[in-house]
Amino acid sequence: MMRLSSRAWSRAESCCQFMPVVINTFLVLAITAEVMYLVVVEAPREPGEQHGEWSAVWKATHIASQLFMLGNIMWNARLFLKRSPSIRGVFLEGAGFGQGWKYCYSCETHIPPRCSHCSDCKACVLRRDHHCVFFGQCVGFQNYRYFLSCLLYMSAGLLYAVVLNSEVFMLVLQEGLTLHSTMLLLMPWIMLLIGQVTPRAFIFAFIADTCVVGCLCVSAFLLFHVTLMLRGQTTREWYSSRRPYSLGWRRNVCECLGQRWYLAWLCPLIPSPLPGDGIHFQVTAPLAETPSTAAPGPPTN
Ligand SMILES: [Zn+2]
Ligand SMILES: [Zn+2]
Repeated sequence: MMRLSSRAWSRAESCCQFMPVVINTFLVLAITAEVMYLVVVEAPREPGEQHGEWSAVWKATHIASQLFMLGNIMWNARLFLKRSPSIRGVFLEGAGFGQGWKYCYSCETHIPPRCSHCSDCKACVLRRDHHCVFFGQCVGFQNYRYFLSCLLYMSAGLLYAVVLNSEVFMLVLQEGLTLHSTMLLLMPWIMLLIGQVTPRAFIFAFIADTCVVGCLCVSAFLLFHVTLMLRGQTTREWYSSRRPYSLGWRRNVCECLGQRWYLAWLCPLIPSPLPGDGIHFQVTAPLAETPSTAAPGPPTN
């Protein structure tokens, strides 16, 4: 009986691991389908443009750009999950333990600098940044490029959805930017409950709001990670004012996006080998805080 319940529990646990990926995939596909509907059915809005040549070019351009963003999001997410940054399968014993190496009691092995244990992944992760709850996997040395590119295209896709939704929303209302339309955008649920809006306008307002919130959150997260990349830090190292692994912005970007960093963000299929191995890092300042760089203590009389 105990064996059966533990087997059921481990199966439920492994199913739950995939839940964030399933939910995220559903959200990305749902937003893309909604924007595709706007482009194909709702736009162009002017009756005279309905069957014009410009209309067909306009629609084709929008559909192509949507597919480009969707393809980038899905493929980057796929490679992010595939390129696990954990130490499983990495031969560390011959690396030669030096400064910054630690011992992980959970994995029972020595681990290199910038590597740390993740209790969710149940493994130590090379150049660990953080555990991403939306993907259910750690962000680290091998998959940081795909994580950043995914954020970039999610942010661009949501901004695109915000602009298109706002335009169609204004057209559905047919009243421009008034107090009524502003209130509807700010609190669509209340406007629906007091009967001040049609269900169709409510749906557009609700989706536009969701995209605005999503766009702000993802863009803020992207900005934070671009800053970290330029500073040569991980999220765990952000709290320290010292940057011993920073090699200058160009080499810091190269360390994250690979040798073809100027092209790597355009498509995940562009080969861009990482310069390091995730085990050894060039250091430009002492790893430990020395007494001369330590913060001065409180003055004594
Ligand atoms: Zn460990
Ligand atoms: Zn993890």
